[in-house]
Amino acid sequence: MTDPDPSANRPSPSPSRKREGDLETPLPDRLARAITLAGPISIAQYMAAANAHYYATRDPLGTGGDFTTSPEISQMFGELIGLWCADLWDRAGRPDIAWVELGPGRGTLAADALRAMGKAGLAPPVHFVETSPTLRKAQAERMGEASWHDSVATLPGDRPLIVIANEFFDALPIRQLVRTIGGWHERLVACQDILFLPIAGKQVPDAVLPEPLRDAPPGSIVETSPASVGIMRDLATRIVAQGGALLAIDYGYEGPAVGDTLQAMRAHKFANPFEAPGEHDLTAHVDFATLLAAAITLGANGHGPTDQGMFLTRLGIAPRAAALAQAAPDRAAGVAADRDRLVETMGTLFKAIAITAPGWPAPEGFA
Ligand code: SAH
Repeated sequence: MTDPDPSANRPSPSPSRKREGDLETPLPDRLARAITLAGPISIAQYMAAANAHYYATRDPLGTGGDFTTSPEISQMFGELIGLWCADLWDRAGRPDIAWVELGPGRGTLAADALRAMGKAGLAPPVHFVETSPTLRKAQAERMGEASWHDSVATLPGDRPLIVIANEFFDALPIRQLVRTIGGWHERLVACQDILFLPIAGKQVPDAVLPEPLRDAPPGSIVETSPASVGIMRDLATRIVAQGGALLAIDYGYEGPAVGDTLQAMRAHKFANPFEAPGEHDLTAHVDFATLLAAAITLGANGHGPTDQGMFLTRLGIAPRAAALAQAAPDRAAGVAADRDRLVETMGTLFKAIAITAPGWPAPEGFA
């Protein structure tokens, strides 16, 4: 981390402002007060505040948590991604790279990938982009040596980057536009007492909408994620200049498209995203076509989207599962069930995309 000390040059808070007291106020009360004082906030502001609180205050992963991700289902997932990285690095001429993961959760994918990369002769320095102090701690326990960053801005600038992002972009804030009879409006979050509810805010010019969607019927919702596109643009710029690649896996679609995909998960069940902000995982489906287009415009090569099931099959999940089952026959049924969950259950909703630097080889898995 190279961030400057945030307390430097800041006047000490006046005791009469009760700063500590403010921070201890529960998030729903703080948001309700902010909306009452200054008016409704955008869906993006609401989602950013809710998720920052949510991830900062818990480890949400696993059966006892709110949701489970592919690396938490089976070691095969991280191992195959590690082999994907090692193969690309080998065919690129074995340069000195930095290995980066965005939103590494418990560090499970990284641990499995690094073990597989190590067997292939690749042992790069590890950089994690992670904002949650709770998950940073879990990652440090799992990984030991790594550098942590608050954002992609402080990643190394002097070498190729191989960047992995699993279920990262879906947690970033989205903006929603809603169609009424009169036209398109920014969707906002209002508050009555302590109940949050979405409303149509100011009208926006039709020109801000992708052309094929402008005539969608009243009630239609269109999502964009300026935060995701911003991170993709930053990373694509670096990868084009420094060399390297990025692999992103998430659930999503090839947009632009109409649809409200904002959802809340708690204890593995859907919840109302406008209830108890900060206590559920808020996500939205990722528009892969828009992310790829952003990178391609900056000179990167784009690959995919391809279904997670196809991607893992091309990387050899079947022989890997067979080898694990042979090594531990008592676990064979569990390994087969995990493989099916990754390839079939999650296999089509989840998709993979990659970008590579010009001059780098095409990555495996996208044929
Ligand atoms: N990749 C992991 C975890 C997915 S959960 C897995 O597959 O298991 C989303 C992760 O992104 C968490 O680690 C969360 O703390 C992190 N995260 C969410 N918003 C972020 C942001 N704006 N910047 C950096 N990390 C973020």
